[in-house]
Amino acid sequence: MMFEGLSEKFQNVFSGMRKKGKLDESDIKVANREIKLALLEADVNFKVVKSFTKSVSERAKGEEVLKSLTPGQQYIKVVNEEMVKMLGGEDQKLEISKDKLNIFMMIGLQGAGKTTTAAKIANLLRKEASLSPLLVAADVYRPAAIEQLKILGKELNIPVYFDDASQNPVEIAKKAKEIATEKGHDLVIIDTAGRLQIDETLMQELSDIDQSIQPTEKLLVVDGMTGQESVNVSKTFDDKLGITGVVLTKLDGDTRGGAALSVAYTTQKPIVFIGTGEKLSDIESFYPDRMASRILG
Ligand code: GDP
Repeated sequence: MMFEGLSEKFQNVFSGMRKKGKLDESDIKVANREIKLALLEADVNFKVVKSFTKSVSERAKGEEVLKSLTPGQQYIKVVNEEMVKMLGGEDQKLEISKDKLNIFMMIGLQGAGKTTTAAKIANLLRKEASLSPLLVAADVYRPAAIEQLKILGKELNIPVYFDDASQNPVEIAKKAKEIATEKGHDLVIIDTAGRLQIDETLMQELSDIDQSIQPTEKLLVVDGMTGQESVNVSKTFDDKLGITGVVLTKLDGDTRGGAALSVAYTTQKPIVFIGTGEKLSDIESFYPDRMASRILG
């Protein structure tokens, strides 16, 4: 699992802090420095690291930590709270309602895991929120992607709307919305086209789909194995489309993963799900506090 290395480093810092009865400013300085290096080494974006360590050190220098009876524990508590903040704060903010048509638009670069994640989310929300999903294949440029979604839908017994003859993703999305209403689905998940790189045509197309069907969620799928590039890519998608949430995939990999964790901070949009494997059940709702505990041990 990702973040093992990072976790180990935090554990070391914390156990050192716990052992000391009293702390002074230089102890805090040393610990902050170790944490900073650990985060940078895990590939957390440097701006995020800077802001994180600034908050921790400001709070740690104050009454809250140094003057407390258990300064080591207090320091750990501060780090924990700041980590939760860095990962997006307390709540999970996915908007779903049983009383309306929920429309999710999946966005991201090719290979990020959009198609797989669309199917995973449909399956998860059918189970956990009792929604009736319709999957929509709107990646008209890659017949293989349409085929892939059809296969996943079959496996899960979830209907998939597609139109092999159409080259128009806006029309496909509109039609899917109509069909969903007709057939009583309350969740439509649209798998859109991705490119290897962001380009104007892709953005325009996504923006057209967005305008015409007004999704309730625009979920950016980010490959957790990609490095700092994912931070820039996410910012670009967010600037152009106003994403509403992020899904981090491939967190089962053994890369450092810190870049992906930076996306919540840099876009100020919540991470709503994480993908933890290739199987269709390998998805979890994301909770900043749980992830912080996982990382901090
Ligand atoms: P798309 O091009 O964005 O639609 O990406 P796909 O859904 O086709 O996924 C690309 C590859 O990543 C596939 O081989 C998926 O099985 C794999 N994948 C997607 N999500 C995960 C995940 O959470 N963990 C792992 N290990 N693989 C994943």
